[in-house]
Amino acid sequence: MASPSEHAADLLRRYGGHSAIDLLDAMIHTEFPGRIALSSSFGADSAVLLHMVSRIDRKTPVLFLDTGKLFGETLRYRIELARQLGLTDVRDLRPAAESVNSSDADGVLWRDAPDACCHIRKVVPLTEALDGFDAWINGRKRAQGGLRADIAPLEAFDGRIKINPLAHWGLRDIAAYFDRYDLPRHRLVADGYTSIGCMPCTARSTESDDARDGRWAGRDKTECGIHLQPV
Ligand code: SF4
Repeated sequence: MASPSEHAADLLRRYGGHSAIDLLDAMIHTEFPGRIALSSSFGADSAVLLHMVSRIDRKTPVLFLDTGKLFGETLRYRIELARQLGLTDVRDLRPAAESVNSSDADGVLWRDAPDACCHIRKVVPLTEALDGFDAWINGRKRAQGGLRADIAPLEAFDGRIKINPLAHWGLRDIAAYFDRYDLPRHRLVADGYTSIGCMPCTARSTESDDARDGRWAGRDKTECGIHLQPV
């Protein structure tokens, strides 16, 4: 039996040149039927993958991390977009009450220990929700830079296959897809937010080339941890 790394290399050889929609179709229908999920933040670019998945199979599980720290606009977008696209299995993942009560009772862990905050509000709920899935679709892009600058469309991650259909997409590709399908934008995009996460850790973009420069602005932190290999 092939290791996850060997499996990813084989899939990359066979599907690495496919378009995003063709790659998704092959993964959902052929390679991982019933064993694949999409994680979505319902953020600035999320409608693209959500729309593609809805075109292929509206029953595909969508994992949404409702951290308890999101913008109200994101929660409304999650409801409106899921309804508009006809997605039938959006799962709202929330942190365990015991973890929040014991580690973040006053709700400001994000200020002093953001990695610990992300761990209980994002990493643990998503890790648990991915249990039972062999493949995980997500929206990371090379153009986002940092640790994402070299990602491939398919990779092995923590014992499963991670699928990055938009790995090679740029801002123009995203904008063109929104226009082509007349998809609704997250309301905060018009207000200057180019990447949207939790409210305490998201600021407007400073108009640099880095669309994620408003995330954990002023800190070294650039990733919440869900895309970092467990140690
Ligand atoms: Fe906490 Fe900020 Fe991470 Fe959200 S992004 S889980 S508020 S540290």
